[in-house]
Amino acid sequence: MIDRTLVIVKPDGVYRSLTGRIVTSLEDAGLKLIATKMVSPSAELAGTHYAADEKWLNDVGNKATASYKEKGVEVKESPREIGMRIRQFLVDYFTSGPVVAMVFEGNEAVFVTRKILGPTEPRKADPSTIRGRYSSDSYDLADKSKRAVKNLVHMSEDREIAEREIALWFKKEEITSYKRSDEDIMYS
Ligand code: GDP
Ligand code: MG
Repeated sequence: MIDRTLVIVKPDGVYRSLTGRIVTSLEDAGLKLIATKMVSPSAELAGTHYAADEKWLNDVGNKATASYKEKGVEVKESPREIGMRIRQFLVDYFTSGPVVAMVFEGNEAVFVTRKILGPTEPRKADPSTIRGRYSSDSYDLADKSKRAVKNLVHMSEDREIAEREIALWFKKEEITSYKRSDEDIMYS
């Protein structure tokens, strides 16, 4: 099924000049870049993007708790409290510099993008992924410095979230429609 996803090169990705490589890695897999813009996000935009959604807060907190437990570190905060703390790190981070927002379209774009860019913690991400190849950052290092994990990119979690995030970052008229020269070879 053809779907769309939002990808954002975070400030560390922009500062480290990795935007081109991130775009190439997705284009190489057959995904089509249909919208892009460079933005210095306002606190309002960053706060809406990382909305205080209960499921997201608990998911992020649970992931962090599991990682600490694996390392034998005692966790005193609830997953929700951890989620709220990380959300504030993310808003601070997104408002600290420029980002490149993009929409990619293609077969299973949400799934394939997450596979290519890799899981959240670069320390554990496979070196064949963007996060694993270009970063070694970890939850504990980031938490100690009271900042978000610098994992270079954001990408939508699922199709429904992707459509919501695309509508937040792009107006309808900013999204293009065209045919890649290799679409017939890939899809028919
Ligand atoms: P993603 O979808 O893989 O980006 O991960 P999440 O949606 O779970 O988390 C959003 C972002 O929050 C991540 O990309 C990281 O930048 C940051 N983050 C997630 N977990 C932690 C954590 O335990 N500590 C810190 N400092 N940052 C985190
Ligand atoms: Mg996420």
